[in-house]
Amino acid sequence: MATKVVKFGGSSLADANQIQKAAAIIKADPQRRYVVPSAPGKRFSADTKVTDMLYACYALAEQGLSFQAELEAIQARYQDIISGLGMTLSLAEEFAVIAENFRKRAGRDYAASRGEYLNGKVIAAYLGFPFIDAAEVIFFRPNGALDDEKTAATLRKRLEDMPNAVIPGFYGCGADGYVKTFSRGGSDVTGSIVAGAVKADLYENWTDVSGFLVADPRIVEHPAVIRTITYTELRELSYMGASVLHEAAIFPVRSAGIPINIRNTNAPEEPGTMIVPDSTEEELSAYTITGIAGKKNFTSISIHKDMMNSQIGFCRDVLNILAEHRIPLEHMPSSIDSMTVIVDSEHLNGLEEEIRTEIVKAVQPDMLEAEDDIALIAVVGRGMCRTRGVAARIFAALAHARINVRMIDQGSSELNVIVAVKGTDFEQAIRCIYDMFVNSVA
Ligand code: ASP
Repeated sequence: MATKVVKFGGSSLADANQIQKAAAIIKADPQRRYVVPSAPGKRFSADTKVTDMLYACYALAEQGLSFQAELEAIQARYQDIISGLGMTLSLAEEFAVIAENFRKRAGRDYAASRGEYLNGKVIAAYLGFPFIDAAEVIFFRPNGALDDEKTAATLRKRLEDMPNAVIPGFYGCGADGYVKTFSRGGSDVTGSIVAGAVKADLYENWTDVSGFLVADPRIVEHPAVIRTITYTELRELSYMGASVLHEAAIFPVRSAGIPINIRNTNAPEEPGTMIVPDSTEEELSAYTITGIAGKKNFTSISIHKDMMNSQIGFCRDVLNILAEHRIPLEHMPSSIDSMTVIVDSEHLNGLEEEIRTEIVKAVQPDMLEAEDDIALIAVVGRGMCRTRGVAARIFAALAHARINVRMIDQGSSELNVIVAVKGTDFEQAIRCIYDMFVNSVA
């Protein structure tokens, strides 16, 4: 039988009603064998996630203050869920252990991990599936990185004869034996690790949106859903700010060639977005492009010098200055007699004058210009390299909207075109590119 690993996010498990929806999804398909839950998330927009309640509660414990009321509020959230599901489960003992461990300062990560741990216990009991504590199967190295070999081997062995299991997301066992979490949103990573370890046929990631959108819905009204996207395209879009999935969640499944399906717990009939290996010969999007994403607040530093190309080490000298100040380089378009470095303005904060002076000293340019408030927009699509006129359409759209393009960069993979525009043109630029590729087809 094929195996699917299903991960449910916090909003999909925020209360009894949501958990019932998740359970119905799991029970509807016997291939959905291994379940990775998050902690209960927000039930309404002003609500607090259980993970955040746990961090706040533990902060009190660390200061030696009373945390009883805060822990009781967390217990009440689980009690609501348990009663709402019509169960008789008691978590009293679990909460006594947690209170004791808080007093013993078991660590911030331990505290946060209890959200997933307890939700895992409740969901396992509700589904009638065995519960596996993630601290027994997911391991970190002394440097904090995942010990992928030990983890995969342990998980595989443990799940070998288990038709079903619930494994809480977000945490594992640190090299010191204490609980350690991934960064926020890390249950996505757990799901991916489990899917990779058992060589699942599919990793379903259930959330509260129907997949990745072609553009940010805060900028474009009701953008289309991306049906399929490759891992590499997704990396390009996430780098530019599009986020639904934890960044590190791609790697364990990518290396095993397992697709990820982003699905909506509140609209399970919708197919969501399929994230597929780069080699998959999937049908291309009707829009030619897959997605548009962007970020504001970059600074460009342009350096001009006649005969720059014959000055050995010119670029290296400039880049060394950035490296010495630990400023990451985002892009570096160049021409014969000039180069531009584009950096995140926040990284440059307060260092601009110093860097200018050092560049002048190192390479004696004829001219040095810095410009703030630059926005970068990435138009991403694996179909771009096979389709004529994509760049022409991007620039026609921008020209038509009277938006001045400050810089163009096309990655060597021909998977994306990046354009820089003034920060004030950012939203309008995204809208007009979207219109050109999506609305003209729809
Ligand atoms: N509960 C954790 C968080 O809020 C992890 C997760 O939901 O994936 O970040």
